[in-house]
Amino acid sequence: MYDIAVIGAGIIGTFVARELSKYDLKIVLIEKDTDIANGTTKSNSAIVHGGYDAKPGTLKAKLNALGNPMFNDICTKLDVPFKRIGSLVIATNQEEMASVRELYERGIENNIPNMMILDGKETIEMEKNINKNVIGSLYSPTAGIVSPWELAVALAENAADNGVEIKLGNKVTDIKKVQEGYSIEMEDEKLEAKYVINCAGIYADDINAMVAPRSFDIRPTRGQYNVLDKSAGDIVTHVIFQAPTKAGKGTLVAPTVHGNLLVGPDAEDLEDKENTSTSSDRISFIREKSKKTTDKIPFGATITSFAGLRAKPSTEDFIIEESKDAKGFINVAGIESPGLSAAPAIADYVVDIVKEVAGDLKAKEDFIDSRRPFIKFMELSDEEKAKLIKKDPRYGRIICRCENITEGEIVDVIKRNAGAKTVDAIKRRARPGMGRCQGGFCGPRVMEILARELGMDIKDVLKDGKNSYILTGNTKEN
Ligand SMILES: Cc1cc2nc3c(=O)[nH]c(=O)nc-3n(C[C@H](O)[C@H](O)[C@H](O)COP(=O)(O)OP(=O)(O)OC[C@H]3O[C@@H](n4cnc5c(N)ncnc54)[C@H](O)[C@@H]3O)c2cc1C
Repeated sequence: MYDIAVIGAGIIGTFVARELSKYDLKIVLIEKDTDIANGTTKSNSAIVHGGYDAKPGTLKAKLNALGNPMFNDICTKLDVPFKRIGSLVIATNQEEMASVRELYERGIENNIPNMMILDGKETIEMEKNINKNVIGSLYSPTAGIVSPWELAVALAENAADNGVEIKLGNKVTDIKKVQEGYSIEMEDEKLEAKYVINCAGIYADDINAMVAPRSFDIRPTRGQYNVLDKSAGDIVTHVIFQAPTKAGKGTLVAPTVHGNLLVGPDAEDLEDKENTSTSSDRISFIREKSKKTTDKIPFGATITSFAGLRAKPSTEDFIIEESKDAKGFINVAGIESPGLSAAPAIADYVVDIVKEVAGDLKAKEDFIDSRRPFIKFMELSDEEKAKLIKKDPRYGRIICRCENITEGEIVDVIKRNAGAKTVDAIKRRARPGMGRCQGGFCGPRVMEILARELGMDIKDVLKDGKNSYILTGNTKEN
């Protein structure tokens, strides 16, 4: 029997599992998809919010304020890209300026440090490409950008380094109360755990309903984005929000940690929890809205679009508590924005609940708090490159020419704990296929390497989800 089963390997489940792996506990992390971070965690704005936006007194506000300063430490330890570039909320008229001031006041109530209200001239001095009709802004220097899926993968790897068992491709289909805890049924197996932590994102209401009467619902709200090539990555240097008005929240324009430009999202209430499709009319709508921030975005440099589903809870706040109707079953539900920003603090909050529910936990003496760093070949000096290639010739073979990724880097992400098992899992960890050609050139080579390293037939290689086979057979038989 496991001590703890964590359901869902998004940023929340992986953070919770990693924090709990500091204690002497037998932990399993269960995920229905073929990889870590394949839900909302891979499809969001990737912003570590300053923390002025959430309503004071809510868990969202409290945990965003606590979570934000924790990013430097965790991202350094786990070798994940994070940049504290600051954010601006810009106003172009007096109504929007009033909204900027309201956000500032809220930020003060939420204990957000170092915010400033800037006038139009000061704002334009900070961002040369934004439109000249801006009359002021809220500057929040503590806001940042991160790679959410790389962080979740790193947390999962570190949790596994510390003994957490990870079961991917295992959908939880039912949970039953048993004498000592819960019996968790998955599609192909069954296990028992004393305590269950429900981090199932958009499905957290359905998982909760397996053990207790429905006390909350999660509704999906889709947000779509445009991603632009690195040639457009320096159009802005901060995260730029538009001031919220009665008409809505506006569109953001932000650089990514890897130097691309992100424009989006919109907001669309849906019924379907699987619908992450994008549509040309919504993308056009986002592009049009972004022009209020800057008319200098070269949309011809768009390389892809994507959509994510916000897990909107009926309670309007994060739901992080032991279920009143199921002892030892802890919900971490309704984690919509700023869930990523709050994630490190959510994990600590959950550990405290586990301590209350299970009694004091024994800390491990041999907890490994950092992860083996990645070799990023292109960041090495010529001398280091030559030395490395001599030691391991695979670092001398460039597989992805857009992002300059070597075979050595690809093999490394396959071989690690919580390593990549699909083409997109490699893409999310090492970036082949993230560039301008979106895998057109390197895709087949990545498949060959994956098949070789995992000892599988190349026809069994998956692009991403279950049954997403890329090859169906030989084009020429001998
Ligand atoms: C458009 C958009 C923009 C956002 N922007 C930001 C932002 O800039 N900053 C910020 O702080 N937050 C942002 N957020 C919110 C943030 O992305 C989420 O709070 C966060 O990703 C939630 O993580 P999670 O682990 O709870 O959910 P998920 O990442 O969805 O993880 C839940 C996991 O549970 C798994 N699961 C579900 N059902 C089962 C089952 N039956 N069995 C096994 N596994 C199961 C899923 O497959 C999934 O992997 C944004 C969200 C969206 C949609």
